[in-house]
Amino acid sequence: MLKKLAALVFITTACASSYDPQAMNHAAESYVKLVLAMGEHDADYVDAYYGPPEWRAQIRAKKPSLDEIRAGAVALHDELMAMPAPRDHMLALRRAYLSRQLEALVARVDIVKGKKLKFDEESKAIYDAVAPHNSEAYFETLTKELDRELPGKGPIIERLDAFRKDFIIPKEKLDDVFKAAIEGCRSRTLQHMTLPPGESFRVEYVTNKSWSGYNWYQGNFVSLIQVNTDLPIYIDRAIDLACHEGYPGHHVYNSLLEKNLVRDRGWVEFTVYPLFSPQSLIAEGSANYGIDIAFPGAERAAWEKTHLFPIAGLDPSRATLYYRIQDLTSKLSYAGNEAARRYLDGEINAAQAAEWLTKYSLTSPARAKQRVKFIDQYRSYVINYNLGKDLVRQYVERHAGTNDEKRWRVFADLLSSPRLPSDLSK
Ligand SMILES: [Zn+2]
Repeated sequence: MLKKLAALVFITTACASSYDPQAMNHAAESYVKLVLAMGEHDADYVDAYYGPPEWRAQIRAKKPSLDEIRAGAVALHDELMAMPAPRDHMLALRRAYLSRQLEALVARVDIVKGKKLKFDEESKAIYDAVAPHNSEAYFETLTKELDRELPGKGPIIERLDAFRKDFIIPKEKLDDVFKAAIEGCRSRTLQHMTLPPGESFRVEYVTNKSWSGYNWYQGNFVSLIQVNTDLPIYIDRAIDLACHEGYPGHHVYNSLLEKNLVRDRGWVEFTVYPLFSPQSLIAEGSANYGIDIAFPGAERAAWEKTHLFPIAGLDPSRATLYYRIQDLTSKLSYAGNEAARRYLDGEINAAQAAEWLTKYSLTSPARAKQRVKFIDQYRSYVINYNLGKDLVRQYVERHAGTNDEKRWRVFADLLSSPRLPSDLSK
C-alpha cells in the first residue's frame, strides 16, 4: 500500500514537471484551425477572428470536410486529456477550457450533420449548462403581479403595449440617445476597470435581422456594434444595448481577452470565437449582468431620467414606474427558454411558439415573430442570455458579496480568464 502510494506520488511529480507549454500552444493553434474550418461549413459559427490571416487562407484552400473536422477535434481533445495537468491555476483553466470547447465543436458538427438532440441535451453539449424547467402556472403567477401594476383595463399584453408606447425612442433621436448611453456605460466602466489604450468601436444601424443588436469584434481592441431598427426601440434598450454590446459587455470582454490572454500570454486560441460554444454563455451572461454592475438597483432609472429621457424627448416623471414594470417583465424571460425548448423539441410549431412568447413572456406579436426567427437560427443559444446572466451574477456575488468595488474586481477577473459555465458554480 505504501509502495503504491509512493509510486503515485512519483508519477504525479513526474507529470507535473513534464508539462510542456509548447505542446499546449501547438494544440491551441490546431484548435483555431479546426474552428475556422467549421466556419466554412456553418456561416454563423465564427463570430470573430483576428489571428494570422494566412491560417484562414490555408483552411479555405484545404476546406476540410465535416468528418475530418470531427476526427481532428476528437484527436486533439484526446491529446489534451493525455497532457499532464498543469499546476498553475491559469494554465489548468486553459487546458480545461480548450478541451470543453472542442467537445462543443464535436457536438455542433453532429448537429450540422443532422443529429437530433433534445433542447437540454444540446444546451448541455454546446453551452455546458441546462436551463430550469418552469410550468405555465409559474408564469401565470408572475403575469398576475404585472396585471395589478399596469394601468387600464383589458388583456395584459394590450395594456403593456399601450403603456410602453410612450417610451419609444423617436427614430431621429436614436443615435443621440444611443451615444449618450454608451458614454454613460463607458465612464462608469472606466471608473473600475483599466481598458487597453486605443480601444474603440463604431455603431451602425441595420434592418432585417433576427437579433436586436450585435457586436462584431474586429481585433486590435476595436468593435463594430450593429443595432437593428426593424422594430420600435424602447428607452430601456439604449442602456441595455450600450452596456451589453459595449461597456462592460462584449466590447470590454473581447478587448480584455485580447489584452490579457492573446497579447500578454500569447494564447492564440482567443483570437477566434466560436459562437456555438461554452464561451457564449460566459459572453452573453457577463454582457447582461454587466448592465446591473454598471447601474446597480435604482441607479439606472435615476440616471436615465436625467440623462436619456430629455434627449429622447420622453416624460421623465414616469421613469420609475417604467422600470418597475420592466423588472416584472424581465422575470418572465425564462418563458422564452420554455417556448424554444418546446418548439425545438417538436412539441409545438412556430406559430404556437410565438403565441407562447406573447402569452407568457408578454412579448409583442411582432417581436415574438422576430424571436422565433432567432430560435430557428441560433437554437438553444437563447439560454445564454438569462441563465448566463443568473449564473454570472451568482458567481460574482458569491465571491464578492454586495461590495461594489469587489464585484467589479471579480467581474473583471472573469472577463480576463478562460472560464467555463460549469466553473461558475465553484
Ligand atoms: Zn450579446
